[in-house]
Amino acid sequence: MIGLLLLAPLVLSLSLPAWSKQAADPAGSVTGDNLAALLDQAEQAKRSDAELAVKLTSQVIDALQQHPDAELELRARFLRCDELIAGAPAKAREEVERGLQLAKQSMRDGWRAGFLSCLGNILEFEGKNTEAEQQYSDAVAIAEVAQDHHMLAHALYQRGYIRGVAGNYSGGLADLQRSHGLYEKINKPVHARTVINSIATLYNRMGDFAQARQYYERSVRLLEAENEPSDLGIALHNLGRTLENLALYDDAQKAFERALAAHLSIGYDRGVAYARRGLGSVLNARLQPEQALKELDLAMPLARSSNDNRLQAQIQLQRGIALRQLKRYREARAELDLALAAFKQIRAQHELRDTYAAMATLNAELENWRAAYEAHVSLKQIADQLATGQRDQQLALIKVQFDTRYQEQQNRALEKEKAAVEQALAQEQRANRLQVIVIVLGALVLLLLVFAIWRQWRNSRKLQAMAMTDELTGLANRRRVLATLDAMRQSHRATERQVAVLIADLDHFKLLNDSWGHLVGDKVLKRVAAAFRTVVREQDVLGRLGGEEFLLLLPSTDKTEALQVAERVRGAVAAIDLTDIDPGLKQTISLGGTSCKVGDEQIGHILARADAALYSAKEQGRNRVLWQD
Ligand code: GH3
Ligand code: MG
Ligand code: MG
Repeated sequence: MIGLLLLAPLVLSLSLPAWSKQAADPAGSVTGDNLAALLDQAEQAKRSDAELAVKLTSQVIDALQQHPDAELELRARFLRCDELIAGAPAKAREEVERGLQLAKQSMRDGWRAGFLSCLGNILEFEGKNTEAEQQYSDAVAIAEVAQDHHMLAHALYQRGYIRGVAGNYSGGLADLQRSHGLYEKINKPVHARTVINSIATLYNRMGDFAQARQYYERSVRLLEAENEPSDLGIALHNLGRTLENLALYDDAQKAFERALAAHLSIGYDRGVAYARRGLGSVLNARLQPEQALKELDLAMPLARSSNDNRLQAQIQLQRGIALRQLKRYREARAELDLALAAFKQIRAQHELRDTYAAMATLNAELENWRAAYEAHVSLKQIADQLATGQRDQQLALIKVQFDTRYQEQQNRALEKEKAAVEQALAQEQRANRLQVIVIVLGALVLLLLVFAIWRQWRNSRKLQAMAMTDELTGLANRRRVLATLDAMRQSHRATERQVAVLIADLDHFKLLNDSWGHLVGDKVLKRVAAAFRTVVREQDVLGRLGGEEFLLLLPSTDKTEALQVAERVRGAVAAIDLTDIDPGLKQTISLGGTSCKVGDEQIGHILARADAALYSAKEQGRNRVLWQD
């Protein structure tokens, strides 16, 4: 159909996002950004000024020799590939090879799909449609895996188009609808609109004119907004064709008139010829053959100069119908014969059907019944073929649409599941994090607790030690040394192991305090304690009873040994150096000793004996040791 023919040039320039007529500025320093901007311009110029697009792309590729940038080069070569398809398919193939090679280094797997699509385009241009479709299918598969929406939409568009051309309408429509959805998703309105136009054209081919009309009208509305007279003219023409098929001649005429105006405004002759053919057809349908012929006569030279055989044949068909209405039967037959031959050659089934219909009517009017019958049989044959094909395609389309919807549902379900799994994972991660925090905090609390307990224990030990220790001398205090004495007394009663006890008392200490002061007295007390420590044995227990009195407990020690220890104590104290206080100062000590007896029921008994001995020592002149059994 005309729609597809007219659409062919659009296919090659699909990858344009939008185009502007702004001129490129080839001057300026070469940077990655500049080159990217040049490529943007080239993409935009592709439709409006193909030469400029080629120039800009070449410039970028040259510049990339000095400033290699794989991503930019891929973009440039992808564009270049597209530009070369029609003029130099062999060179375009080179770009495909280089592109596929380069794509291996790129993070974007979609590039492979892009270059395979370009290869498909080259094959399509060479008339190898089956091979082309295979390349598009590969591109679709790769872009799908890579989740590259742009390349996927591109490949689906290409495949959808070629499937439509091959008569696989349902497959083609499924591709085109997916492509359209993707272009909308990635916000490429011009691409999306181009796809809408192709969808409409396929519906038209299938004979589903109502659907086709809706899509064309949508396309027209979008093109009006875009202010694109060239594509608008094509879409309006296609809409007119559809309305013509729906026998809505008023609307069809308006559409063709608007198409004509659009094509005239930009001087697109072939478009003008198509629009005038449409007007001729509508006028024929309205039984206005003279006006129809005027339009058709204006259309024919333009169709000839654009070398469009099919369009010429379509004009001839309408001329035949107009001439028949004017009862110029001979001329009518001549036109219809020419049209029939042309349509047969290019196997244009729809037009053949219309031509046989026109021939049947012509022959009937001429009462040439046999020829009329034959034309009618041929007409019916083709009409049946077309109807069957369309029915099959309709069924297949319903199935494909159902499948697509089912697949979308599946995808949505999968996505939901994925989201749920991700959510669960995130929750688990949160829980794990929380667990770690709890464990760390727990460990911290435990540590603090252990520290607190340890401090408590240490403090209590300190307190305990403090409670048992004499602050000034660091010796066991009275309470402790008496408790130890009591323990030894009991153990002696039980085991009869010997224990000696010595009480020591500094001599005339009051005097020292009185003459030198309490602080000097304390100093001397400390030195006395130190002297004690140097002479007592490891097993001996030493304590301060209070004031300047000390108690010495000597386990496993008999009287002789005890007296020896006492003598050492006495000597050590007498030897204390006090010259720092006064050169002539001396301090002596007196000691009284005794041994524990089995009969000692209280420590008082023991202490009393030791005290008595001490008293005697004092009596006898001090600085001596005495014993009481
Ligand atoms: P004696 O030879 O008879 O034992 O004579 P003395 O002076 O040592 O005996 P007295 O019991 O009369 O005096 C004990 C003195 O010890 C009284 C006090 O001044 C002194 N004193 C007691 N406790 C301390 C103390 O903790 N520090 C100081 N510096 N002096 C103390
Ligand atoms: Mg005393
Ligand atoms: Mg004393």
